[in-house]
Amino acid sequence: MLSEAIVRPAESVRAWASGCLPPLLDGAVSDLLYGAPQALMALARAHGSPYHLLWPDVLRQNVEAFRAVLHRHRVPFELFYGAKVNKSQALVRAAVGCGIGVDASSIYELRDALAAGVDPRRVCATGPAKTAAFHAELLARDCLISVDSVQEFWALERRNQHGPETRVLLRYRPAGSQASRFGMGGDELLHCLRQLAQTRNRLRFQGFHFHLGGYDYAQRVLAVAELAPHVEAARYLGLEPRMIDIGGGLPIRYVEADAYESYLGRQASGHYRNGRVPASFYPYGGRVGACEWLDRFLESPLQDGASVAQYLQANELTLAIEPGRSLADQTGISVFQVNGVKALPQGRHVIFVEGSSFSACETWFASEYLVDPILVSASAQAPAATFSAYIAGHSCLDDDVITNRLIEFPRTVQAGDLLVYANTAGYQMDLLENEFHRHPMPRRLVARCGARALADFDIDEPRSD
Ligand SMILES: *Cc1c(COP(=O)(O)O)cnc(C)c1O
Repeated sequence: MLSEAIVRPAESVRAWASGCLPPLLDGAVSDLLYGAPQALMALARAHGSPYHLLWPDVLRQNVEAFRAVLHRHRVPFELFYGAKVNKSQALVRAAVGCGIGVDASSIYELRDALAAGVDPRRVCATGPAKTAAFHAELLARDCLISVDSVQEFWALERRNQHGPETRVLLRYRPAGSQASRFGMGGDELLHCLRQLAQTRNRLRFQGFHFHLGGYDYAQRVLAVAELAPHVEAARYLGLEPRMIDIGGGLPIRYVEADAYESYLGRQASGHYRNGRVPASFYPYGGRVGACEWLDRFLESPLQDGASVAQYLQANELTLAIEPGRSLADQTGISVFQVNGVKALPQGRHVIFVEGSSFSACETWFASEYLVDPILVSASAQAPAATFSAYIAGHSCLDDDVITNRLIEFPRTVQAGDLLVYANTAGYQMDLLENEFHRHPMPRRLVARCGARALADFDIDEPRSD
């Protein structure tokens, strides 16, 4: 099945950064890519294509970086790993292992977190449509529950008539998100607060939650400002708010900002195989990473001359954050082997890889992963040439295209070569993955510290049923 190109001597394997949007790479990843690319070939032989590599150690570093910012601002905090970002159990275990909680929005994510040894009291359950079974398990384990609606509030009251008290947050729908179906407006919050204030209620109020689309910290500052009167109202009713959970959405940087802005400024329909520039992109080349974002959020003025951090301190409120993508930053790459290359009119090519766009899925959201894949040539003798190609999957769907953008490669791409998509752990690699055409699910492999060879990778541990 695999081309003979990959059984050539290991020394001939080389990695080439290509095109104009080369990925920012963590040291562990670039060591492997540029220092030991033959290991990537060996992994393809052993595990097929595509496969995903994960570095749980990098997630631990990301947690430490957040903690450093939060300590510096002296705010009490609680971190919850937004587990939906990636299906790797090793990442859940890494998060739990460094002592943070987990944001679970299904019974399965909850079970994965429990299997990883989480203290159930450090699970925060979000999601707008929790089933009765999910509620029951959350209640039985004393997890923190973010209540999305008045209806959910009533259901929880009904379902919790006998057990011990349960801690709840109320999810707020900020003024800037009126079209959203998530969370509650001011009147609904007040209704819930009044119910919670009744002494017979078995739901114990902890505070407020929101989660916004977009990546703007100023929007979160506004939402906290909107919540301040509700914090007051809760106190007036005799409740003790102790947490504000600002959800996730902390941005990460995939490519250099200058390169990115320059690309956006000159891209045109001719750069895409379908002649269409997508209407929107993730801000791949933003100037602010997650830690700086958090820094700016905390030092932003909120009210009466006080910053967000000072407001939280003065009100003895714990800041909760539920980062998904930003905790998964640089924790994974996805590797596709080239099946064949076909010449097209106008000097273009299409590269067919073994694998599908479900394993690198941005195009399914009418957008594009604006990060160039790195070419690992099976042969160092591959002719140097500008080689313009888009990248298609192996299925018979016309839309099974991983990269619509025509990538300029520095070498001719040949069957047996590898294309490495960097930094895919944040939703890209497995959000839509499936067994279409009966292809087996791609392997997820976990790197040990300093991994440079086949033997340094283990198969990811299984998830719970
Ligand atoms: C998805 C989600 C998150 C994580 O968002 P990221 O953008 O990955 O950080 C956090 N909280 C809630 C409620 C979510 O739905």
